[in-house]
Amino acid sequence: MLKPCAIILLIFSIISCNETLEEDNSENEITLKSQFPTYYEKYQNLINYIPSPDSPVKTVMINFIVMQKDDGTGNFQNINDNSEYSKKYGVPRLLYLYNGLNQRFSKLFPPSDYINGVVSIADTRIRFELNNIYFYRNSKGFSSNNIRELENIIGNSSPFSIFVCSDNNRNPDHFNEINIFFTESENKQSYGSIPLFNDCSKKLSQVLVKGFNEKEADPTCGDWANIGGIVHETCHNFGLGHTYLGGGTGKTVEEMKENEDWHYDVFGLPFPGNAPHITSSCNSEECKSLPLYNWDADPYDTTLLHHDRLTNNIMSNQVGSRTYLSPLQIAKMQRSTRFFTINKYINDDCYDSDKPLIISKKEYWNFFQRLFEDLIIENRTELTITSQIELPAKARIVIKSGCKIILDGGTISGVNNSIWKGTLIIENGGVLLMKNNGKLNMNIKENIVVQKGGGLIISALPLN
Ligand SMILES: [Zn+2]
Repeated sequence: MLKPCAIILLIFSIISCNETLEEDNSENEITLKSQFPTYYEKYQNLINYIPSPDSPVKTVMINFIVMQKDDGTGNFQNINDNSEYSKKYGVPRLLYLYNGLNQRFSKLFPPSDYINGVVSIADTRIRFELNNIYFYRNSKGFSSNNIRELENIIGNSSPFSIFVCSDNNRNPDHFNEINIFFTESENKQSYGSIPLFNDCSKKLSQVLVKGFNEKEADPTCGDWANIGGIVHETCHNFGLGHTYLGGGTGKTVEEMKENEDWHYDVFGLPFPGNAPHITSSCNSEECKSLPLYNWDADPYDTTLLHHDRLTNNIMSNQVGSRTYLSPLQIAKMQRSTRFFTINKYINDDCYDSDKPLIISKKEYWNFFQRLFEDLIIENRTELTITSQIELPAKARIVIKSGCKIILDGGTISGVNNSIWKGTLIIENGGVLLMKNNGKLNMNIKENIVVQKGGGLIISALPLN
């Protein structure tokens, strides 16, 4: 027998299941390829970013922001006791979501629909740290699901109260964390903004619309403010698109491929495999011959027509069953931590001392890169940097004998353009050449070791 909540949700599912990306910023791939040749030649390939079980964990900072009505009613409340009310509408419910987010990213399920030859991995090696939960009283925010509008509200007003999780009691309008908004918009669509390549200036936020079924705040009943919703929007913040067509990502399978959202370990070979997967509404020609399934259809039900296109993938439409990511989807998230906006929300405690990035052939970096390991230039080659490069506080840069780094207008700094506390070692016969206002955002006297015969050549006055 269906539970009462399930019956109510079925009525709403058609209008409420469509969840979309905030915007599609995908640039023309050909333009990007000619603009950033080294990235596409060496750094793009997702295979290189699949984490191993012992890869260092990357921790992403998040805020929860609850928008109540002006009079303080509606939405989640800043109460934290053992009552049933608190469990459904209070801080315990929000902490349940937060813990669920971390659990999901550390312990993915196996795929509901196995793709031949794919060895799945359980741990993304990505975790989240909840900075604080902020409660705002703002009726406009309460009924909004527009990310820009919500960002403006917190930019122009202060929280009414804060559930403090960390000592870090900043106002969330500093945008040092990913802001995850909870609202009760009439329009039930949730959104997650996508990161940009080579651009740290963008803000990344999410809006999750709570409670189209107020009486049943049971997260298993399809409330958008559930774990399936939050993990899905979070993956958008890392740049993942849908396994189905539309909702802000690819509208055709070809477009999906261009956006690097078609993965052979999701859909199978030969191309297009079983793409697209099924959603509850689809306007594309490629969906015409496919059935439509609601968000609560069971991905494990093998009696359904085209059941292999109905999966437990986090980027699918199956809100209650979002439990799996393929190795290449995880790799795409990991790659984003280096080259896309999401990097700025990652704590500087992730350093892989065992696997340096080794440059042994001439390279030209004109794109932002956040490193999580040492950088070693060897084999008598040179690395030219015209962009911003950020390194962990514990890392080293080693310029070996006969090698060169040319900081040509570029900047080497710590995380989020902080002063880099690491060590730069210029070996005998190595050279660091700085020109065109290239900057070393570090303590030159203490943290640069120029070995006998090494050279630090500064062609202007670029030092901080
Ligand atoms: Zn989505």
